[in-house]
Amino acid sequence: MAGPEIKAPALREYPVIPTLHPGAMAETKSFLANEKVQEEIGFPGTLPDDWHDRAIGKMGELLGKYRSLRVFMDACVHCGACSDKCHYFIGTSDPKNMPVARQDLMRSVYRRHFTLAGKLVPRLVGARELTREVLDEWYNYYYQCSECRRCSVFCPYGIDTAEVTMAAREILDTVGIGQKYTSEIIGKVHKIGNNLGLPGPALENTLEGLEEDVKEDTGVAVRYPLDVKGAEVLLVTPSADFFAEPHIESLIGYGKVFHAAGISWTLSSKASEAGNFGMFIGNYEQLRKIAMRVREAALDLGVKRIVVGECGHAWRVAYSFWNTLTGIGDGAHDPFAIQLQSQLDHRYRQPMHICELTWDLIQQGAISFDKEANDHRIITFHDSCNVARASRMGDMPGGQFVIPRAIIKAAANHYVEMAPGTTHEQTFCCGGGGGLLTDDLLDLRIKGALPRMETLTQVASGQGVNFMATICAICKAQFTKILPYYGFKMGMVGGVHQLVSTAIKLGDK
Ligand code: SF4
Ligand code: SF4
Repeated sequence: MAGPEIKAPALREYPVIPTLHPGAMAETKSFLANEKVQEEIGFPGTLPDDWHDRAIGKMGELLGKYRSLRVFMDACVHCGACSDKCHYFIGTSDPKNMPVARQDLMRSVYRRHFTLAGKLVPRLVGARELTREVLDEWYNYYYQCSECRRCSVFCPYGIDTAEVTMAAREILDTVGIGQKYTSEIIGKVHKIGNNLGLPGPALENTLEGLEEDVKEDTGVAVRYPLDVKGAEVLLVTPSADFFAEPHIESLIGYGKVFHAAGISWTLSSKASEAGNFGMFIGNYEQLRKIAMRVREAALDLGVKRIVVGECGHAWRVAYSFWNTLTGIGDGAHDPFAIQLQSQLDHRYRQPMHICELTWDLIQQGAISFDKEANDHRIITFHDSCNVARASRMGDMPGGQFVIPRAIIKAAANHYVEMAPGTTHEQTFCCGGGGGLLTDDLLDLRIKGALPRMETLTQVASGQGVNFMATICAICKAQFTKILPYYGFKMGMVGGVHQLVSTAIKLGDK
């Protein structure tokens, strides 16, 4: 259980702004994707001879397509308000992990090629040429950003470093420089249907085994159905929910909610993954292609509702982009989108988060809890970045903060908040988001988790917190790995529906 080799930074009283350690993470470079993997997902396999022109051409294309990117390049006044807000800067002390410095990696090239001053007097305006060294520096530091958007909350101009990172990664992919972890996962989704490469028959076996386990545990025949045509709800959830701990405990909880409320539901072998790593590399075509699997599954199965499981970035993609990407929730106007619109039941939000569904059922009195079943837990809640800062729940401002907490309080008696300024929209990233959840970045992940570990330590030692709930598959996986490095048990992290699962009263419906 104890974390090996890499040493976690010493915990301090939060917040402490680190002294600068220039170059501290300059050698940290996530593994590169190989030629075959890159080509399979439509990018060049190696750096082409004309890479410079292609990269600048792509940057021009993105500046034209996304006006926000041009505004972000122009608007920064270097006020420094964002500089100490990034968990990777706080954990590594490397000044290039300050959000403004991360943006400047691209801004300097933007000025050289897309502004008059940068073309005429580059040195005076901090403009620089895109050299091979600059490209390598982009790769190192844009893969040290989890696209969490915390810095943007503090920027007076709302400059979003995550969008800059996405643009930089897309430019890098355009010239054949891709990250092994994200590119391989995108390839697996296309080939097999989910990030973990779990084929349909294995999924079927897993779900059958789960039904047996839950029956043995509760005496109730809760179903975990796959590919059931005519079910009311299609649940799309991260593939980690199918077998990883603690994720599977939440899947058990979703099934119990549907069972107790008497709602027919199904999982899909075609859309057996809610995650969409197309967003992490900023690539619209990949984002759309991956999202389309959900629409196809919904049409094939004839479902009336689409519900998304506990996954932070998946909920961002579903809530913010599915409408225009796929026509789920209005937006697209091609014949299949129109067909889907007429098929879905618009008395419900489309798509809906599993927390919205559970909370609605609690309010209607359709499900209830034996709260004492969670009495061995003193619980805190970690807001996940993409839910907190890039989506909403319940069609109300702040619903994404209110609803998960309300479910926890309905299912358990002991709840404690972490320090103000580190939760809600100012929450800290777990340290593993945005395509960084790979062992070749373990050192960065441990250091990036420091601010959250400091605030967790406060409530663990002060109020006896022994369970941190979260609604993101990446947060769960990251914390499971990282907690032991900070002296915590890996089992102290789990899903909101894990708590639901423990306490829900299983009715006869
Ligand atoms: S988006 Fe998050 S990880 Fe990236 S620079 Fe901002 S605070 Fe850091
Ligand atoms: S807070 Fe905004 S304007 Fe200020 S340095 Fe950061 S990105 Fe630039």
